[in-house]
Amino acid sequence: MGRPDRMTLPRHHNGSLWFHSLEDLPEPQPPAALPERVDVAIVGGGFTGLWTAYYLNRHRPDLGIAVFEAETVGFGASGRNGGWCMGMADGIEERLHGPERDAGLALLHAMQETVDEIGRVCQAENIDCHFAKGGTLAVATTERHAEGFREYVAAKHALGFTDDDFTWLEPGESARRIGVRPNFGASYTSHCAAIHPARLVRGLGDTMRRKGIAICERTPVRAIAPGRVETSRGNVRADIVLRATEGYTDTIAGHRRRLAPVYTMMVATEPLSADTWSELGLARRETFADGRRITIYGQRTLDDRLAFGGRVGYRFGSGIRPRVEPDDPALADVEASMRALLPALGDARVTHRWGGVLGVPRHGRPFVTFDRAAGFGAAGGYTGEGVGASNLAARVLADLVLERVTPLVELAWVDDMPPRWPVEPVRWLGAKALMTLGRMADRKDLRGNGRSRVAGPLFERLF
Ligand SMILES: Cc1cc2nc3c(=O)[nH]c(=O)nc-3n(C[C@H](O)[C@H](O)[C@H](O)COP(=O)(O)OP(=O)(O)OC[C@H]3O[C@@H](n4cnc5c(N)ncnc54)[C@H](O)[C@@H]3O)c2cc1C
Repeated sequence: MGRPDRMTLPRHHNGSLWFHSLEDLPEPQPPAALPERVDVAIVGGGFTGLWTAYYLNRHRPDLGIAVFEAETVGFGASGRNGGWCMGMADGIEERLHGPERDAGLALLHAMQETVDEIGRVCQAENIDCHFAKGGTLAVATTERHAEGFREYVAAKHALGFTDDDFTWLEPGESARRIGVRPNFGASYTSHCAAIHPARLVRGLGDTMRRKGIAICERTPVRAIAPGRVETSRGNVRADIVLRATEGYTDTIAGHRRRLAPVYTMMVATEPLSADTWSELGLARRETFADGRRITIYGQRTLDDRLAFGGRVGYRFGSGIRPRVEPDDPALADVEASMRALLPALGDARVTHRWGGVLGVPRHGRPFVTFDRAAGFGAAGGYTGEGVGASNLAARVLADLVLERVTPLVELAWVDDMPPRWPVEPVRWLGAKALMTLGRMADRKDLRGNGRSRVAGPLFERLF
């Protein structure tokens, strides 16, 4: 596996460790000729688009489905992420502790089941995405974070969950499980799997091709109109059009300011020795984070690297770069956070550096919508938690399209549409202020001299 090099990467390479470690990354396959008409046109060849195609096909193999992808399958967030396949999603936590408690619980149970559903489909379809359900650790690096995590576990138990779902690990046990220093204990949930995201998304793409679904790569959709998609290669008539473009939604006419494209960055080390892993832990390939507000996330890969991400940023005017280059200054911060958190890494070499965009909805919750009269549907808004959530959202969307009466179509995500983001420069100024508050509060907490009393609560109210 070579080191990323900006001069030699082909245009369809997203720069991630995951794309580098695929056995094969063939040139994108644009269609020789566009289909004139399909039953369902899906815009976006990431997890949301492909899972939706998968479940539509599973229930109705007779449907003519085409997926339109601007570059190549998995080019976006699905082929670049941290590989946490979580039994949790953004917005659920808030619902659990308010008047929407039952709706929140239904979503949380559905998300927990989703991790096993993904594992089952991978087995059934022979997709080897290095799936390991080792759970996830949230490690406390301050007393204050430990207090918060203990309260988090107690609140879950008050809702009827047991230690099998959420448990508190005392500092000694936590330090044995993961070499984060300092280590004041951790909350642990078993409902998370580590995966190789590009192997999953590319495997899904291959599965769908085998099932006869048309995957039109290098075919960006410019506009969606009732009954048709307008692509760079011409128009295609479709009874139903489903949008699955997440952080890239602004690229489609009429769909601007729906989801803000926000960057998150990742680095990965060389494969580490058994001695290093005996200090770092993660024997079950648990994924991990800590208690800071500007989230960090990590996983031990099957080939014994540490893949680690963090830091977020928004570019003026919802700007999107196809790829983040390895010398981007934001990546140095991510590497520094990783080394500070895990001193046992020593001088291990970082071999891969990349980043990508998430889709952030203004109300902070994923959504699924389908308007039968308009023949239009969409799913997304997962922020940084879409690896598992995109599977659940796709099953909901498929059920809505096929008019299947299932518990999934009763979930609170249905038609919970976010308002549009404000126009610039308000959007950029707001994002900048929010990130500054989050970083200030994190710095104060991590210095260990008390809790941030202004920036922290303000960040939590606004985000
Ligand atoms: C660096 C990073 C780390 C992350 N880590 C995690 C994690 O560990 N766990 C987790 O749960 N989530 C994580 N996420 C978020 C998660 O990856 C996403 O929520 C999820 O992959 C979204 O899938 P999607 O199919 O909706 O969008 P995407 O995967 O972004 O797919 C959208 C696709 O649409 C294509 N496209 C764009 N414009 C057009 C157009 N006009 N016409 C046609 N096609 C178009 C794009 O090329 C892209 O392939 C991370 C994201 C990033 C960027």
